[in-house]
Amino acid sequence: MKKLNAKRLKRHMLKTSEFWQLDEKFLVISPDKKLCTLTGMESLPESDTGYLGYAFLDDTMRVAFLGICDEEDGSYKYFDGDQVLVAQAWMLPTMLVRIVKPSEELEKHPFVQGVLKFHESDALRRSTLALRQIDHLRDPLRPAILKAAWIVDEKKLESTFNESVEQYLEVLAAAYEQAEKDGIRAKDVEVEGEPEPLPVDAMSVEFVRITDLVPANNGTWRAILLDNIPGTSKKKKGDDVAISLVTTTIKGDDRNYSMLFIEIDAPIEDTKINVASFKPSRLPWRIAYTLACPHCDFNDTYYLGRSGEDRFMFKEIVEEIRSGKVDPLIAIDLVQRDDCEIDFSRELYRCRSCGTLDVKRRVRLITEDHTLSAMYYCLECGERMSHVKRGHIASLDCPRCREQLNPVEEALWDGVNPN
Ligand SMILES: [Zn+2]
Ligand SMILES: [Zn+2]
Repeated sequence: MKKLNAKRLKRHMLKTSEFWQLDEKFLVISPDKKLCTLTGMESLPESDTGYLGYAFLDDTMRVAFLGICDEEDGSYKYFDGDQVLVAQAWMLPTMLVRIVKPSEELEKHPFVQGVLKFHESDALRRSTLALRQIDHLRDPLRPAILKAAWIVDEKKLESTFNESVEQYLEVLAAAYEQAEKDGIRAKDVEVEGEPEPLPVDAMSVEFVRITDLVPANNGTWRAILLDNIPGTSKKKKGDDVAISLVTTTIKGDDRNYSMLFIEIDAPIEDTKINVASFKPSRLPWRIAYTLACPHCDFNDTYYLGRSGEDRFMFKEIVEEIRSGKVDPLIAIDLVQRDDCEIDFSRELYRCRSCGTLDVKRRVRLITEDHTLSAMYYCLECGERMSHVKRGHIASLDCPRCREQLNPVEEALWDGVNPN
């Protein structure tokens, strides 16, 4: 049995967890006799201690059973052979699971590698899964399906309103005429049915299902229609359609509410990526920091900054982006904007949970109005890592024994790819 090195998190109810809490996460599943009685799960070996599962989003949320797991001591062992049982998460019995963040060691499992490769190849479609503000528009079982609003002919609505105003004015004129005949003062004339500005619910809105929502060039979005749009034949089921994402703040509530609208006449933009390398006015200092622990034998050197291999590194980063190894929010900007630049520098990162230190490339996307930094996760425990500012390097704790590390040496380094 191998030890589950990863940090173990709160228990979750599998059925009610959102897809983004589960996707690409490992699960410690409690033993449950019912599991082996489910259709298609008859070959699952019985276990008194529990299972190690892997949750991933395909069309629906799925759970792959990879091995047995001891919930008590957090050890696990993969099943023999390469047959992996996969179940739809919704068909599993109601159960509590622990969600374990993926470590490098766990991700080596061939099945998991297969899922990750597939997800990378689908990075653009998956990028919009990171937009929490449209979660409420997603199908709870099949998150790739969203509902988008189509406002039926706004011009027709306007003319309907104008007609009702005209009608009202005619009725009003007739009433005044009659009042004059009857000797009633004009201000005492009462006419019912004064037209009011169109209330929001009078707008005829149709909700239509869409799928494959992706960012597109010139700040747009596009998707594929899953339904015909009632009342128009300009677009039909299966067609590409331009989509707009509109966020409004509800007054007094300070809450944002987002909605997707179908833009039936808008051009459908491409999804190509154009990116340049950021030219910093001053390159980050190229220094090798050696840190040693006074208490245990921890001793390591971190080569930070940028060396002469910039062009090579930029090319490598762009290749990774194109192959789908990119943070979803960065991918969205890269497609939607044409002012994106990529900055990078080797910098030190520290795990927020276990304190592991690691050098990452610190890829940042820079646009005219904001920057986005790539997120890095600990290879040991899967938690987020934080960038360590140069000034804080001298006061780091030992990742093994937590004693404060001694800065042993700071030296300039040169050459290509020191690691
Ligand atoms: Zn960690
Ligand atoms: Zn130490």
